[in-house]
Amino acid sequence: MVDEKLETLLGERLDNIVDLALENERLGKLIDSALEARELSKTFRSKVGIAFEMYDGTIIPGFNIETYGHKGNHAEEVGLIIAMSKGYHGTDFKRMIVVYQDAGHDDIEVFPACPLDCWGRLLEFAHPYLEVVVVDINRNVHYRSTLKEMFSGIKSPAQIYPSNKIRLAKPKSNITPKLPLNIALKPAYDSDSNFKQYCDEVLKVKPAWDYPTV
Ligand SMILES: [Zn+2]
Repeated sequence: MVDEKLETLLGERLDNIVDLALENERLGKLIDSALEARELSKTFRSKVGIAFEMYDGTIIPGFNIETYGHKGNHAEEVGLIIAMSKGYHGTDFKRMIVVYQDAGHDDIEVFPACPLDCWGRLLEFAHPYLEVVVVDINRNVHYRSTLKEMFSGIKSPAQIYPSNKIRLAKPKSNITPKLPLNIALKPAYDSDSNFKQYCDEVLKVKPAWDYPTV
């Protein structure tokens, strides 16, 4: 009887260890993909790579594109477009690995996607329970959260942007990343009420993938 219990317990432990090893291997592969995608960036300032893991196991890359004369594209946006081109939408998305580094600074920088552009888009075209994993170029994981938690954790823009000039990435790190604020986004950060209004509007948005096909 005792032996049986012990056997069950050991079996469960072993299963957990195997699950953890598989998860670590999977995460390592996703980080590789995000780092590879980052090398495709067309950029003169920030260099970002992402990898979406889809529920069917497919990995979709994304990289940022900066232009001097136009708005450019964030890695998350490019990844979403690539995923759409392959017919993925909505709840097909399992998680997103983001590798971010700003070319203007020597420090290792991490940044959990951008609240004004990418969170909103991900919310519409993926779903609130998408897991976001932020990694630095040395493969250290700094931040893990769902999109929903990222939205609900924000009381004021100051939590993400402590000043108009500096962005501060999120917890689980004693690194203090710095990045000049994108001037184009400034109006939305000028007051808490502007920011809150944006979040409210975004959170109320019906997922685009749930729209009826016309
Ligand atoms: Zn973005």
